[in-house]
Amino acid sequence: FVPDLAEGSRVRAADRAHLFHSWMAQDAVDPIPVAGGSGRYFWDYGGRRYLDFSSQFINLNIGHGHPKVIAAIKEQADRLCMIASTFANDQRGEAARLIAELAPGDLDRVFFTNGGAEANEHAVRMARMHTGRPKVLSAYRSYHGGTATAIGLTGDPRRWANQNSGSASGNIAHFFGPYLYRSHFHAATEAEESARALEHLEQVIVFEGPGTVAAVVLETVVGTAGILVPPPGYLAGVRELCDRYGIVFVADEVMSGFGRVGEWFAVDHWNVTPDLITFAKGVNSGYVPLGGVVMSEAIYDSFRTVTYPGGLTYSGHPLACAAAVATITAMKEEGIVENAARIGEQVIGPGLREIAGRHPSVGEVRGLGVFWAVELVHDRETREMLVPYAASGAATRPVDEVVAACRAGGMWPVYNFNRIHVVPPCTITDAEAREGLAILDQALYRADAYTTG
Ligand code: PLP
Repeated sequence: FVPDLAEGSRVRAADRAHLFHSWMAQDAVDPIPVAGGSGRYFWDYGGRRYLDFSSQFINLNIGHGHPKVIAAIKEQADRLCMIASTFANDQRGEAARLIAELAPGDLDRVFFTNGGAEANEHAVRMARMHTGRPKVLSAYRSYHGGTATAIGLTGDPRRWANQNSGSASGNIAHFFGPYLYRSHFHAATEAEESARALEHLEQVIVFEGPGTVAAVVLETVVGTAGILVPPPGYLAGVRELCDRYGIVFVADEVMSGFGRVGEWFAVDHWNVTPDLITFAKGVNSGYVPLGGVVMSEAIYDSFRTVTYPGGLTYSGHPLACAAAVATITAMKEEGIVENAARIGEQVIGPGLREIAGRHPSVGEVRGLGVFWAVELVHDRETREMLVPYAASGAATRPVDEVVAACRAGGMWPVYNFNRIHVVPPCTITDAEAREGLAILDQALYRADAYTTG
């Protein structure tokens, strides 16, 4: 790679002249022009390289430039770029078969979408039609996507502005999931947190009217809103409540699926089988956009003679499905899911706990696989968040400084309010993980400067 700063400037200028960016005030947009990527690194036109501790949007599970996925896309492009979903296609069928084989229980039928938000839109539509009920319950501290129903389900501040403009759909009620570090239930142990969170969910079902609730939609491990790993018994308890009240259990595995937690699906950790799993991101690492819903036979049965009122021009796009087949196959051949589990247990988990011991700003580290959060506080005793919930402007400075220090050190992290997330590709090596943790360790001294404890 030959650095070319002039080309970098042109790329950036074209972006600023014509592109409208997601989730931002446009005047605040300041993109780094990226020239390329390989494995766990990407680089700009000046030759500055970043260790990707973000997996981009926590979707690039297989890393940048995987040769087998690239070859599969090229081969499919040569053969057939587009064929409508009315027709049978080998890559589409094989991708669905592979996903059904990986999914638990009798979740054997796949509807393909272009991404995660659409997957949740369709899961909810299926659940509403299957039950004949209108309402959906989802958790505070969640992200389910940027389209109308998905943003309505979302339990983070991104929903608020959409409700102001009236685009987030109704008939959704929110509940609190388990989060022992900031327990809403005054719990002291994981067992208490799990039991009380389930009691609370049942109360919400009862007060909303069980006969009106079509679905509970839940991220198996909450991603953007905090890497919240459910305590033992919680997901099984949700399954039981859904069975008791005839409610469809939708597990959103858009972020947690396909290796991120060191399993193909995060529900595998707890041996729980939901009725619907939504997926996207890691299914083909975003080499071509793809998402979908994998459903139980009972849900499928509802549409054997009744028309399903939904569809997409690009449902099961051949290039996206070829990328999924190649991604899943490569992940199996190369032990990539096992690598994610091992790195979490042996390198990232122990490394983060050691870092936590050195930094008074670290309140808690938690996670599994390549899915970790470092929660930053002003004071370990009071657990006051270093950046408050829904903060903007000057209030975000402590974490902004940590992020800037990570980037200056050559590592690209993910952050959300008072948390830094460590979410590298599942293919990361021990040495790369240690390199990134060392950069994070140094950056966290910036956060320590704001502690008061
Ligand atoms: N669900 C979860 C848990 C997610 O993390 C995301 C995206 O970050 C989505 C849904 C939305 O997916 P997409 O951006 O592909 O629409």
